[in-house]
Amino acid sequence: MAASAPLLTHATRMLVSLLLTGSALQAIASEPVTPIQVGTAVAKHGQVSRGEILIDAGSDSGYSIPVIVANGERPGPTLALIGGLHGAEFASIVALQKLSTQIDASRLSGRVIIVPLVNVAAFDAVARHLNPVDGKNINRVFPGSVSGTQSERAAYAVTTQVIDQANYVIDYHGGDIDEDQHPYAYWIQTGIAQLDASELDMLLAYGPDYIIKFAAAGLTVETAKLLPTQAVARGKPTITVDAGRAGTYTAADLATLIDGTFNVMASLEMLDRPVKAPKKPTYIERFIYVKSEGTGTFYPLAARGQHVRKGQKIGYVTDRYGMPSFDVVAPESAVVLYLNSTPSAVQGEQLFYLGVPAQGDATQRPAKFGGGT
Ligand SMILES: [Zn+2]
Repeated sequence: MAASAPLLTHATRMLVSLLLTGSALQAIASEPVTPIQVGTAVAKHGQVSRGEILIDAGSDSGYSIPVIVANGERPGPTLALIGGLHGAEFASIVALQKLSTQIDASRLSGRVIIVPLVNVAAFDAVARHLNPVDGKNINRVFPGSVSGTQSERAAYAVTTQVIDQANYVIDYHGGDIDEDQHPYAYWIQTGIAQLDASELDMLLAYGPDYIIKFAAAGLTVETAKLLPTQAVARGKPTITVDAGRAGTYTAADLATLIDGTFNVMASLEMLDRPVKAPKKPTYIERFIYVKSEGTGTFYPLAARGQHVRKGQKIGYVTDRYGMPSFDVVAPESAVVLYLNSTPSAVQGEQLFYLGVPAQGDATQRPAKFGGGT
Protein backbone atom coordinates (compact mmCIF):
# COMPACT_ATOMS: atom_id res chain seq x y z
CA MET A 1 0.00 0.00 0.00
CA ALA A 2 1.30 3.45 -0.87
CA ALA A 3 2.13 5.64 2.10
CA SER A 4 -0.46 8.17 0.98
CA ALA A 5 -3.34 5.68 0.74
CA PRO A 6 -6.21 6.60 3.04
CA LEU A 7 -6.65 4.52 6.16
CA LEU A 8 -9.86 2.56 6.51
CA THR A 9 -12.56 4.42 8.38
CA HIS A 10 -13.79 3.12 11.69
CA ALA A 11 -17.11 2.23 10.07
CA THR A 12 -15.33 0.10 7.48
CA ARG A 13 -13.20 -1.50 10.15
CA MET A 14 -16.22 -2.36 12.24
CA LEU A 15 -17.84 -3.88 9.17
CA VAL A 16 -14.73 -6.02 8.75
CA SER A 17 -14.92 -7.04 12.39
CA LEU A 18 -18.61 -7.78 12.06
CA LEU A 19 -17.90 -10.08 9.19
CA LEU A 20 -15.20 -11.82 11.18
CA THR A 21 -16.38 -12.10 14.75
CA GLY A 22 -19.47 -12.67 16.79
CA SER A 23 -18.00 -10.83 19.75
CA ALA A 24 -17.63 -7.70 17.63
CA LEU A 25 -21.31 -8.01 16.85
CA GLN A 26 -22.09 -8.08 20.55
CA ALA A 27 -19.85 -5.04 21.07
CA ILE A 28 -21.72 -3.05 18.46
CA ALA A 29 -25.10 -4.20 19.71
CA SER A 30 -24.20 -2.96 23.17
CA GLU A 31 -23.35 0.54 22.03
CA PRO A 32 -23.61 3.42 22.75
CA VAL A 33 -21.50 3.01 25.88
CA THR A 34 -21.90 0.27 28.44
CA PRO A 35 -19.65 -0.51 31.40
CA ILE A 36 -16.65 -2.72 30.74
CA GLN A 37 -15.22 -5.19 33.20
CA VAL A 38 -11.92 -7.04 33.04
CA GLY A 39 -11.04 -8.90 36.22
CA THR A 40 -11.81 -6.61 39.12
CA ALA A 41 -11.52 -3.44 37.01
CA VAL A 42 -14.90 -1.96 36.04
CA ALA A 43 -15.26 1.32 34.14
CA LYS A 44 -18.48 3.12 33.26
CA HIS A 45 -18.43 5.66 30.45
CA GLY A 46 -15.88 8.39 31.04
CA GLN A 47 -14.01 6.36 33.66
CA VAL A 48 -10.62 4.70 34.03
CA SER A 49 -10.39 1.78 36.45
CA ARG A 50 -7.43 -0.24 37.72
CA GLY A 51 -7.77 -3.79 38.98
CA GLU A 52 -6.50 -7.33 38.78
CA ILE A 53 -7.07 -10.43 36.71
CA LEU A 54 -6.88 -13.15 39.32
CA ILE A 55 -5.12 -16.37 38.37
CA ASP A 56 -6.21 -18.99 40.86
CA ALA A 57 -3.69 -21.42 42.29
CA GLY A 58 -3.67 -24.81 40.59
CA SER A 59 -0.84 -27.31 40.27
CA ASP A 60 1.38 -24.33 41.08
CA SER A 61 0.91 -20.88 42.64
CA GLY A 62 -1.70 -18.29 41.72
CA TYR A 63 -1.09 -14.56 41.24
CA SER A 64 -2.74 -11.46 39.89
CA ILE A 65 -2.16 -9.65 36.60
CA PRO A 66 -2.55 -5.85 36.67
CA VAL A 67 -5.16 -4.45 34.29
CA ILE A 68 -6.36 -0.95 33.45
CA VAL A 69 -9.62 -0.31 31.59
CA ALA A 70 -10.66 3.02 30.13
CA ASN A 71 -14.22 3.55 28.90
CA GLY A 72 -14.74 6.55 26.66
CA GLU A 73 -17.50 9.12 26.71
CA ARG A 74 -18.42 8.11 23.16
CA PRO A 75 -18.89 4.74 21.46
CA GLY A 76 -16.15 3.17 19.43
CA PRO A 77 -14.06 0.03 19.16
CA THR A 78 -12.41 -1.85 22.01
CA LEU A 79 -8.62 -1.95 21.73
CA ALA A 80 -6.51 -4.31 23.88
CA LEU A 81 -2.87 -3.44 24.61
CA ILE A 82 -1.04 -6.43 26.07
CA GLY A 83 2.60 -6.49 27.22
CA GLY A 84 5.02 -8.39 29.39
CA LEU A 85 4.37 -11.93 28.22
CA HIS A 86 8.14 -11.89 28.54
CA GLY A 87 8.68 -10.22 31.90
CA ALA A 88 12.20 -8.91 31.28
CA GLU A 89 11.19 -7.05 28.11
CA PHE A 90 11.11 -3.91 30.19
CA ALA A 91 10.76 -1.26 27.48
CA SER A 92 7.32 -2.44 26.43
CA ILE A 93 6.13 -2.95 30.01
CA VAL A 94 7.25 0.52 31.12
CA ALA A 95 5.75 2.04 27.96
CA LEU A 96 2.32 0.53 28.66
CA GLN A 97 2.40 1.58 32.30
CA LYS A 98 3.23 5.16 31.26
CA LEU A 99 0.69 5.14 28.42
CA SER A 100 -2.06 4.00 30.79
CA THR A 101 -1.56 7.13 32.92
CA GLN A 102 -1.99 9.32 29.82
CA ILE A 103 -5.41 7.99 28.77
CA ASP A 104 -8.12 10.63 29.22
CA ALA A 105 -11.46 8.79 29.15
CA SER A 106 -13.36 12.05 28.68
CA ARG A 107 -11.68 12.43 25.28
CA LEU A 108 -11.85 8.77 24.29
CA SER A 109 -14.21 7.07 21.86
CA GLY A 110 -14.50 3.36 22.60
CA ARG A 111 -12.65 1.37 25.19
CA VAL A 112 -9.06 0.48 25.95
CA ILE A 113 -7.93 -2.55 27.96
CA ILE A 114 -4.30 -2.29 29.04
CA VAL A 115 -2.41 -5.28 30.45
CA PRO A 116 1.15 -4.00 30.91
CA LEU A 117 2.65 -7.10 32.55
CA VAL A 118 1.33 -10.64 32.13
CA ASN A 119 4.46 -12.47 33.33
CA VAL A 120 4.83 -10.91 36.78
CA ALA A 121 7.15 -13.62 38.15
CA ALA A 122 9.67 -13.04 35.35
CA PHE A 123 9.63 -9.27 35.93
CA ASP A 124 10.35 -9.74 39.62
CA ALA A 125 13.06 -12.35 38.99
CA VAL A 126 14.57 -10.48 35.99
CA ALA A 127 14.17 -13.74 34.08
CA ARG A 128 14.43 -13.76 30.30
CA HIS A 129 11.94 -15.40 27.92
CA LEU A 130 10.22 -17.81 30.32
CA ASN A 131 7.94 -17.82 33.34
CA PRO A 132 10.20 -19.01 36.19
CA VAL A 133 7.23 -20.59 37.99
CA ASP A 134 6.74 -23.35 35.41
CA GLY A 135 9.61 -22.80 32.97
CA LYS A 136 7.24 -22.12 30.05
CA ASN A 137 7.17 -19.37 27.41
CA ILE A 138 3.71 -17.83 27.82
CA ASN A 139 3.83 -16.77 24.18
CA ARG A 140 3.84 -20.43 23.13
CA VAL A 141 0.90 -21.78 25.15
CA PHE A 142 -2.14 -19.88 23.84
CA PRO A 143 -5.11 -20.18 24.11
CA GLY A 144 -4.06 -21.64 27.44
CA SER A 145 -6.01 -23.84 29.79
CA VAL A 146 -7.86 -23.21 33.02
CA SER A 147 -6.46 -26.48 34.38
CA GLY A 148 -2.85 -26.07 33.16
CA THR A 149 0.26 -24.68 34.81
CA GLN A 150 0.54 -20.99 35.71
CA SER A 151 1.59 -19.90 32.20
CA GLU A 152 -1.35 -21.77 30.67
CA ARG A 153 -3.83 -20.39 33.19
CA ALA A 154 -2.53 -16.86 32.53
CA ALA A 155 -2.84 -17.36 28.76
CA TYR A 156 -6.38 -18.65 29.21
CA ALA A 157 -7.35 -15.61 31.29
CA VAL A 158 -5.85 -13.22 28.75
CA THR A 159 -7.63 -15.02 25.90
CA THR A 160 -11.07 -15.14 27.50
CA GLN A 161 -11.09 -11.91 29.49
CA VAL A 162 -9.07 -9.57 27.27
CA ILE A 163 -8.78 -10.79 23.66
CA ASP A 164 -12.39 -11.96 23.47
CA GLN A 165 -13.61 -8.51 24.59
CA ALA A 166 -11.47 -6.65 22.04
CA ASN A 167 -12.01 -5.64 18.42
CA TYR A 168 -8.30 -4.89 17.88
CA VAL A 169 -5.15 -6.03 19.69
CA ILE A 170 -1.60 -4.73 19.99
CA ASP A 171 0.96 -7.17 21.43
CA TYR A 172 4.10 -5.53 22.93
CA HIS A 173 7.57 -7.04 23.11
CA GLY A 174 11.17 -6.10 23.05
CA GLY A 175 14.43 -5.48 24.76
CA ASP A 176 14.86 -8.70 26.69
CA ILE A 177 18.13 -9.04 28.57
CA ASP A 178 19.86 -10.71 25.63
CA GLU A 179 18.19 -8.65 22.85
CA ASP A 180 19.62 -5.39 21.53
CA GLN A 181 16.92 -4.38 19.06
CA HIS A 182 16.17 -1.87 16.39
CA PRO A 183 12.41 -1.19 16.72
CA TYR A 184 10.20 -3.17 14.34
CA ALA A 185 6.72 -4.67 14.06
CA TYR A 186 5.15 -7.85 12.71
CA TRP A 187 2.44 -8.08 10.09
CA ILE A 188 0.56 -11.37 10.57
CA GLN A 189 -0.62 -12.32 7.12
CA THR A 190 -3.58 -14.68 7.11
CA GLY A 191 -4.51 -14.50 3.46
CA ILE A 192 -7.90 -13.08 4.51
CA ALA A 193 -7.75 -9.83 2.57
CA GLN A 194 -9.83 -7.61 4.84
CA LEU A 195 -8.13 -8.81 8.01
CA ASP A 196 -4.64 -8.39 6.54
CA ALA A 197 -5.53 -4.93 5.21
CA SER A 198 -6.87 -3.86 8.59
CA GLU A 199 -3.63 -4.96 10.25
CA LEU A 200 -1.57 -3.12 7.65
CA ASP A 201 -3.52 0.06 8.38
CA MET A 202 -2.72 -0.36 12.08
CA LEU A 203 0.95 -0.92 11.24
CA LEU A 204 1.19 2.11 8.97
CA ALA A 205 -0.36 4.25 11.69
CA TYR A 206 2.05 2.80 14.26
CA GLY A 207 4.89 3.76 11.94
CA PRO A 208 7.77 1.30 12.42
CA ASP A 209 10.95 1.51 10.36
CA TYR A 210 10.65 -2.22 9.62
CA ILE A 211 7.54 -4.35 9.06
CA ILE A 212 8.33 -8.05 9.23
CA LYS A 213 5.97 -10.20 7.19
CA PHE A 214 4.78 -13.17 9.20
CA ALA A 215 2.94 -15.80 7.17
CA ALA A 216 0.14 -17.42 9.14
CA ALA A 217 -2.52 -18.81 6.82
CA GLY A 218 -5.00 -21.36 8.13
CA LEU A 219 -4.83 -20.34 11.76
CA THR A 220 -7.23 -22.01 14.18
CA VAL A 221 -7.80 -21.31 17.85
CA GLU A 222 -6.51 -24.82 18.59
CA THR A 223 -3.23 -24.44 16.71
CA ALA A 224 -2.38 -20.75 17.17
CA LYS A 225 0.02 -20.82 20.12
CA LEU A 226 1.27 -17.22 20.11
CA LEU A 227 -0.84 -14.44 21.58
CA PRO A 228 -0.97 -12.53 18.27
CA THR A 229 -1.82 -15.59 16.17
CA GLN A 230 -4.45 -16.66 18.69
CA ALA A 231 -6.02 -13.20 18.57
CA VAL A 232 -5.99 -13.25 14.76
CA ALA A 233 -7.50 -16.74 14.76
CA ARG A 234 -10.35 -15.19 16.74
CA GLY A 235 -10.82 -12.61 14.00
CA LYS A 236 -9.18 -9.68 15.78
CA PRO A 237 -6.81 -7.56 13.70
CA THR A 238 -3.58 -7.76 15.71
CA ILE A 239 -0.09 -6.34 15.41
CA THR A 240 3.05 -7.16 17.38
CA VAL A 241 5.45 -4.30 18.12
CA ASP A 242 8.99 -4.58 19.45
CA ALA A 243 11.38 -2.01 20.93
CA GLY A 244 14.03 -1.97 23.63
CA ARG A 245 17.50 -3.20 24.34
CA ALA A 246 19.36 -5.45 26.71
CA GLY A 247 17.00 -5.32 29.66
CA THR A 248 16.61 -1.56 29.55
CA TYR A 249 15.26 1.19 27.29
CA THR A 250 15.82 4.69 26.04
CA ALA A 251 13.41 7.60 25.86
CA ALA A 252 13.32 7.00 22.11
CA ASP A 253 12.19 3.38 22.63
CA LEU A 254 9.34 4.53 24.89
CA ALA A 255 8.36 7.25 22.42
CA THR A 256 8.26 4.70 19.58
CA LEU A 257 5.89 2.47 21.54
CA ILE A 258 3.70 5.17 23.10
CA ASP A 259 3.43 7.62 20.20
CA GLY A 260 2.86 4.74 17.78
CA THR A 261 0.02 3.41 19.91
CA PHE A 262 -1.70 6.79 20.16
CA ASN A 263 -1.46 7.14 16.39
CA VAL A 264 -3.11 3.73 15.96
CA MET A 265 -5.87 4.93 18.30
CA ALA A 266 -6.26 8.06 16.18
CA SER A 267 -6.49 5.92 13.04
CA LEU A 268 -9.28 3.90 14.70
CA GLU A 269 -11.06 7.21 15.44
CA MET A 270 -10.74 6.62 19.18
CA LEU A 271 -8.98 9.96 19.74
CA ASP A 272 -10.09 13.35 18.50
CA ARG A 273 -6.84 14.21 16.77
CA PRO A 274 -5.47 13.85 13.28
CA VAL A 275 -3.55 10.74 12.25
CA LYS A 276 0.09 11.60 11.75
CA ALA A 277 1.26 10.82 8.23
CA PRO A 278 2.81 7.36 8.24
CA LYS A 279 6.49 6.84 7.58
CA LYS A 280 7.39 4.71 4.60
CA PRO A 281 8.44 1.41 6.15
CA THR A 282 10.88 -1.16 4.87
CA TYR A 283 9.19 -4.54 4.53
CA ILE A 284 11.18 -7.55 5.67
CA GLU A 285 10.52 -10.48 3.35
CA ARG A 286 12.56 -13.10 5.22
CA PHE A 287 14.41 -13.26 8.47
CA ILE A 288 17.45 -15.24 9.44
CA TYR A 289 18.67 -16.43 12.81
CA VAL A 290 22.45 -16.54 12.84
CA LYS A 291 23.18 -19.18 15.46
CA SER A 292 26.41 -19.83 17.29
CA GLU A 293 28.60 -22.68 16.02
CA GLY A 294 30.00 -23.22 19.48
CA THR A 295 30.07 -22.04 23.07
CA GLY A 296 32.29 -19.23 24.29
CA THR A 297 32.50 -15.44 24.53
CA PHE A 298 30.75 -13.35 21.86
CA TYR A 299 32.12 -10.11 20.41
CA PRO A 300 29.77 -8.36 17.95
CA LEU A 301 31.14 -6.31 15.07
CA ALA A 302 27.78 -5.03 13.78
CA ALA A 303 25.14 -2.92 15.52
CA ARG A 304 21.35 -3.02 15.60
CA GLY A 305 19.90 -1.29 12.57
CA GLN A 306 23.12 -1.75 10.58
CA HIS A 307 22.99 -3.06 7.03
CA VAL A 308 25.47 -5.89 6.53
CA ARG A 309 26.67 -7.56 3.34
CA LYS A 310 26.68 -11.25 2.52
CA GLY A 311 29.97 -12.71 3.73
CA GLN A 312 30.75 -9.80 6.04
CA LYS A 313 32.36 -10.69 9.38
CA ILE A 314 29.78 -9.42 11.88
CA GLY A 315 31.26 -10.89 15.06
CA TYR A 316 33.55 -13.50 16.52
CA VAL A 317 33.63 -15.91 19.43
CA THR A 318 36.54 -16.83 21.68
CA ASP A 319 37.00 -19.90 23.88
CA ARG A 320 37.01 -19.95 27.67
CA TYR A 321 40.58 -18.67 27.64
CA GLY A 322 39.83 -15.72 25.38
CA MET A 323 41.57 -17.34 22.41
CA PRO A 324 39.95 -16.97 18.94
CA SER A 325 37.46 -19.75 18.24
CA PHE A 326 35.41 -18.81 15.14
CA ASP A 327 34.09 -15.87 13.15
CA VAL A 328 30.41 -15.01 12.71
CA VAL A 329 29.57 -14.18 9.09
CA ALA A 330 26.42 -12.71 7.53
CA PRO A 331 24.86 -15.43 5.34
CA GLU A 332 22.99 -12.83 3.26
CA SER A 333 22.87 -9.08 2.80
CA ALA A 334 20.40 -7.88 5.41
CA VAL A 335 19.65 -5.46 8.23
CA VAL A 336 20.45 -6.29 11.87
CA LEU A 337 17.06 -6.35 13.62
CA TYR A 338 18.64 -7.44 16.89
CA LEU A 339 21.77 -9.02 18.21
CA ASN A 340 22.76 -10.87 21.35
CA SER A 341 23.54 -8.13 23.83
CA THR A 342 25.52 -10.35 26.18
CA PRO A 343 28.99 -11.97 25.88
CA SER A 344 27.42 -15.41 26.32
CA ALA A 345 27.58 -17.49 23.15
CA VAL A 346 25.95 -20.90 23.40
CA GLN A 347 26.08 -23.48 20.63
CA GLY A 348 22.85 -23.39 18.66
CA GLU A 349 21.62 -20.16 20.27
CA GLN A 350 21.09 -17.04 18.19
CA LEU A 351 23.71 -14.31 17.94
CA PHE A 352 21.98 -12.17 15.31
CA TYR A 353 18.43 -11.76 13.98
CA LEU A 354 18.71 -10.46 10.43
CA GLY A 355 15.97 -9.25 8.11
CA VAL A 356 16.15 -9.42 4.33
CA PRO A 357 14.31 -6.42 2.86
CA ALA A 358 11.60 -7.16 0.29
CA GLN A 359 11.99 -6.17 -3.34
CA GLY A 360 9.19 -4.72 -5.46
CA ASP A 361 5.62 -4.69 -4.14
CA ALA A 362 6.36 -5.90 -0.64
CA THR A 363 2.78 -5.76 0.57
CA GLN A 364 1.70 -8.76 -1.47
CA ARG A 365 4.02 -11.67 -0.78
CA PRO A 366 4.04 -13.24 2.67
CA ALA A 367 7.14 -14.95 4.01
CA LYS A 368 7.36 -18.08 6.07
CA PHE A 369 7.30 -17.35 9.77
CA GLY A 370 9.98 -19.00 11.85
CA GLY A 371 9.67 -17.70 15.41
CA GLY A 372 10.60 -14.26 16.61
CA THR A 373 8.53 -12.75 19.37
ZN1 LIG B 1 8.70 -10.97 23.87
